[in-house]
Amino acid sequence: MKILILGSGGREHALAWKIKQSPLCSQLFVAPGNAGTHEIATNVAIGVNDFTAITDFVLKEAIELVVVGPEEPLVRGIRNIFEEREDLKHVLIVGPGKEGAQLEGSKDFSKQFMQRHNIPTARYQTFTPEQLEEGLEYIDKQELPIVLKADGLAAGKGVIIAQSYKEAHETLTDMLAHQKFGDASSRVVIEQYLTGIELSVFVLTDGKDYKILPEAKDYKRIGEGDTGLNTGGMGAVSPVPFVDREFMQKIDERIIWPTIEGLYKENISYVGFIFFGLINVDGEPYVIEYNARMGDPETEVVIPRIQSDLVELLVATANGTLSEKRIQFVPRIATTVMLVSGGYPGDYEKGKVISDTGKVENVLVFHAGTKLTSDNRVVTDGGRVMALTAYGADIRQALAKSNQAAERIQWEGKYYRKDIGLDLLKISK
Ligand code: AMP
Repeated sequence: MKILILGSGGREHALAWKIKQSPLCSQLFVAPGNAGTHEIATNVAIGVNDFTAITDFVLKEAIELVVVGPEEPLVRGIRNIFEEREDLKHVLIVGPGKEGAQLEGSKDFSKQFMQRHNIPTARYQTFTPEQLEEGLEYIDKQELPIVLKADGLAAGKGVIIAQSYKEAHETLTDMLAHQKFGDASSRVVIEQYLTGIELSVFVLTDGKDYKILPEAKDYKRIGEGDTGLNTGGMGAVSPVPFVDREFMQKIDERIIWPTIEGLYKENISYVGFIFFGLINVDGEPYVIEYNARMGDPETEVVIPRIQSDLVELLVATANGTLSEKRIQFVPRIATTVMLVSGGYPGDYEKGKVISDTGKVENVLVFHAGTKLTSDNRVVTDGGRVMALTAYGADIRQALAKSNQAAERIQWEGKYYRKDIGLDLLKISK
């Protein structure tokens, strides 16, 4: 089977690594890919939103399965093109259509969806620019802190947790009246702040049946002790020690099943991954957000924990036969530590030569922002540069390996958090 993965992050390298192991995969392409995917697949210089170039390539190479990594092409409707065009209908594609991707593409849509299907989530109200005054009055009646969310995609920056009424007023005004996030903030969801530990749960669904994948916890802030600015993610651990059978059952019964059933009932055919961003509030799970794709860096620990053939699962997802499949997991802990460019998530320099990636042992090196130069050197090409995933019998063992490799790999300005997973040691056996 000829397979194309769209994307260029650690998530896509981890997917490529797993897909490549399947006897069903005859040839693997990644568009645009990175220096890591270059080692195991053929990189194709096409951007993830260049639908004309992507569809031309799929036809030219007779690609049979397309796996969409990031959210943007999904929200822009890449699946719809494959479904609508006669000459592309035979191609299997993993990733929801435009409508299903609204679970991620519009916070207001996802909140309304959750309300319609009684899925536990924070109390909220949505405001448009015409309703700015009402929004300001609404804020005054809520408790602090309060969460303001730009409705549309804002590259992970559209959520502000305001600690004072003044900050909340200013933020709402910036978003609605001054289009702080452009079109994305033409509507703003104002939401109750929930207190608890966050976790991510992933599901693969063909629209009728679903498989729950290993859960993970990620670390969003740049600084140790979860301080400083938000990033795309600085590390992850799977499984999560506080998620026992009973808690997972609550998640399944109250959140996952009603979501799949809700999509089905609303005639939204959803084929692909759903990422449930959850929070554990005193033992009860609530949805913070949905994403219409896998998380990054969570994929770098979730995918290595899947024992089963991923291509078999992806094909069954795309052709609606997931109920016939079983999924098995690797009974080990996985941790990943993300190495980033100095300065990230603010300004940072690219093009720094990376040393020693070939020499690190006991880890899976998943590249993110890297590229190969014309003289075959691997250089940094983004904020998040590579994720170092290790297995262990327990968190401590896995972390020791991830951290050892993190120290070994070098480039000018390299930074990583040395405290990934340490909070979980307190609650793990
Ligand atoms: P989102 O893009 O919706 O996941 O929000 C980004 C981050 O903001 C989440 O990972 C949470 O840490 C935080 N957050 C969002 N909504 C809430 C909420 N209602 N209560 C507490 N924290 C929240």
